[in-house]
Amino acid sequence: MGAGALSCGKREGGSGSASAEAAARAFIDRHLERARPLEKALNLAWWQANITGRAEDFQAKERAENALNKVLSDGQTFAELKSLRDRGRLSDPVLKRSIELLHLAYLGKQVPPELLEKMVAKSNAVERTFNVYRAEVGQRRLSENDIRKILRESGSASECEQAWKGSKGVGRQVDPDLKELVKLRNQVAGRLGFRDYYALSLFLNEQDEGALLALFAQLDELTRPPFLELKAQLDRTLARRFGVALDQLRPWHYQDLFFQEAPRVGVRQDLYGKKDILRICRDYYAGIGLPIQDVLERSDLHEKDGKSPHAFCIDIDREGDIRVLANLRPTDYWMNTMLHELGHAVYSKYLDRQLPYQLRSEAHILTTEGVAMMLGRVNKRAEWLRASLGLDQRRAAQAGAEARRELRAESLIFSRWCQVMLHFERALYGNPDQDLARLWWDLVEKYQGLRRPDNRSEPDYASKVHLVSAPVYYHNYMMGELFASQVHHALARHLGGTDPAELSYVKRPEAGEFLKQKVFLPGARFSWNELVKHATGEPLTPGYYAQDFVKD
Ligand SMILES: [Zn+2]
Repeated sequence: MGAGALSCGKREGGSGSASAEAAARAFIDRHLERARPLEKALNLAWWQANITGRAEDFQAKERAENALNKVLSDGQTFAELKSLRDRGRLSDPVLKRSIELLHLAYLGKQVPPELLEKMVAKSNAVERTFNVYRAEVGQRRLSENDIRKILRESGSASECEQAWKGSKGVGRQVDPDLKELVKLRNQVAGRLGFRDYYALSLFLNEQDEGALLALFAQLDELTRPPFLELKAQLDRTLARRFGVALDQLRPWHYQDLFFQEAPRVGVRQDLYGKKDILRICRDYYAGIGLPIQDVLERSDLHEKDGKSPHAFCIDIDREGDIRVLANLRPTDYWMNTMLHELGHAVYSKYLDRQLPYQLRSEAHILTTEGVAMMLGRVNKRAEWLRASLGLDQRRAAQAGAEARRELRAESLIFSRWCQVMLHFERALYGNPDQDLARLWWDLVEKYQGLRRPDNRSEPDYASKVHLVSAPVYYHNYMMGELFASQVHHALARHLGGTDPAELSYVKRPEAGEFLKQKVFLPGARFSWNELVKHATGEPLTPGYYAQDFVKD
């Protein structure tokens, strides 16, 4: 669906509407002339800073952010935009949507430039701290990958405890800056007439707070019983493994920095030790009709000093320059992460290039996370294990059954963790001066069922990078999970008679075609809830997620 087909929308009210549309088009042209090169420059600076961690690259990124903010914070331009939007005489839906999205982009920046600059400086300083931080454990300086490896593989409780605590050291470094940043963000929100930054962010992302909280309450109820059952089993296994009593289990026994991923228990076959993760990704994505060789060539995929230890996908210019940042090792974790990041990449890559620039992006954070999650799940299915790893029928079936249990455990565990993030972040902006360390562990105990470490009053929450670099974002992962299940079931229906639990779309280009038509091509033409209906025929519902992961 090209924009061209829609660019001559019907005119109501005669020339008034036509002139409004002409004015809107002229506004967008002027905006793009200024903003588009700045957006590209910012994306390139962002990329560079995350690859090197160098102070000067972070300074360049900061300058680029300030330059773009300067355009978006201009009061006169905003007044013009607001009147274009409020007059409501735009009948061309593409134009109307573009103005709507621009309005939101400008609205969030209508505060004094000094305030924006302060925020940018603060968050860059903290992001850099995260990138260059290495945990000091004994004589060793450990990367996040090193810590993960210890937590996954060590049978020594004290080694795990030291590694876990070492990794939390970044929280102590970051905490004062994080709190200051939260207050600055709240100042911005207050000036714009919002309760706090949490409320502002939801508004700018077209999400309703009441509906969000109701959804999370529903998910809490849905996931609690199966999660508690799963966790009780897990606790017995982990207590045996470490030779401790059940009530002596602490967060470092769970193999992950935040218990956001499922521990690997039992003897597990090493499926990836000698495998070429990139080749597997390349073949898989080519097989579903969404080749990504060009993305891999532009990407930065291996560990380096100073480089961000996480994984991201970025669309530099909305013209096809899409890249992934990763720190690959031949493990299940990185197999999964690469499939996920490339899910983001194909979404960006196969947007309709005929859409106007303003709409040539993903519909919403939750839809791109959803697609990435949907494609990140495929390596948990027997069909995929057979095709991509060359396992024989029997081993693939065995590994598939095991992987399916794992995926269920992962989803339930991740869902409980999302509850912690949602409620913590909302409370953080509600009152940044409260006892946050205590609040954090209260929520962890309530939703994740972990026991807090004894006699610890460290700002452990501040070791979660998202609070700084992707604020009020986390609930979108959970909603992305729902979207992933919902689209997966719609696709299974489309492919006809396939059991969704078995389906991994291997060598099914129709799957890629479905995603293109239903999800990618519309870009940001629709709001997220309209897109969910467009793609699956119904609004976002936890029903399919429940079918996938709640029932045993
Ligand atoms: Zn993602």
